[in-house]
Amino acid sequence: MSIAKKEFGTLKSGKAAYLYTIRNKNDAEISVTDFGASLVTAVFKDKAGKPVDVVLGYDSVGPYEINKYYFGQTIGRSANRIENGRFVIDGTEYQLPQNEKGNSLHSGPDGYGVRIWDSAEADESKNTVTFRLNSPDGDQGYPGNFNVAVSYTLTDDNEIIIRYEGLSDKKTIANMTNHSYFNLNGHGSGSVLNHKLQISASAFTPVKDSKAIPTGELLPVENTPMDFRTAKKIGQDIDAEYEQLKFGLGYDHNYALDNWNGKLQKIAESEGDITGIIMEVYTDLPGVQFYSGNFITNEEGKEGALYINRGGFCLETQFFPNSANEPAFASPVLNAGEKYQTTTIYKFK
Ligand code: BGC
Repeated sequence: MSIAKKEFGTLKSGKAAYLYTIRNKNDAEISVTDFGASLVTAVFKDKAGKPVDVVLGYDSVGPYEINKYYFGQTIGRSANRIENGRFVIDGTEYQLPQNEKGNSLHSGPDGYGVRIWDSAEADESKNTVTFRLNSPDGDQGYPGNFNVAVSYTLTDDNEIIIRYEGLSDKKTIANMTNHSYFNLNGHGSGSVLNHKLQISASAFTPVKDSKAIPTGELLPVENTPMDFRTAKKIGQDIDAEYEQLKFGLGYDHNYALDNWNGKLQKIAESEGDITGIIMEVYTDLPGVQFYSGNFITNEEGKEGALYINRGGFCLETQFFPNSANEPAFASPVLNAGEKYQTTTIYKFK
């Protein structure tokens, strides 16, 4: 077990960003940067013992300053969409930047994923790197000084454990996620359509239209192309004549996880058809956004790789999209002084 630190390039502001590489006893390694508290690489062995980097990303910090696809970012204060960028807490209305089709997506252009975090701490005894950020009252339009920490641990069981902890001095919204794109055949290996995927959800949250705000209903996945309760290829039904898939140009939907009780549980599993690498996903949150990379168009990534359309998929654990405005959904409101604490695990076999 070890953690190495090196420079990851210089930001437009002149500040240096750093990359921390955590290695475990199986010679698996992940690297994370203090820019956006982002996951940059995740290297695990395939069935032949060959190391494979399974996340999309860039070689240095420069492109992360733009990062229009949100590769690897920590998203905060709130993931996914908030309708009209507006919500009300205790009678006070708050307005966020409307950065996508009139709505707030991933908390706007100044999200936690496109800023350098205040500090980074490497703990070799735990194989953990922790990033801290002080998000001031009014930051992105949200109330409350929110002090947040995100830590990445690589265990000897090949788990990437992502822990989020935060505290606000005012009632606010807290709904953070990680926006990694996975390709279990290797980050530059083409589309993920032949990956198998299973998601433990009997229902999803249908959206109103292509602006992707949920209607507020839960729709059973049964007898629809949305059904991933039993593993199937991502590409099997992706182009079906089904309105919800037309809205997102493929899968871009929140799944309402079965048996949610706030405890960590396994919610999904995927397998790369070429490498045999299997990823399991665990979370204590009620939802996961399954996004099949429908908007990626030929992006140059790490090591000269070309990321094609549907060249990676995301499983973003979260409170449901627009839950800040939807009383039917579990609430992402965090009380003043209440501890925000949530964990997501990506485990590789
Ligand atoms: C959203 C997609 C969006 C993507 C950004 C996902 O979380 O659901 O609609 O395009 O993030 O790359």
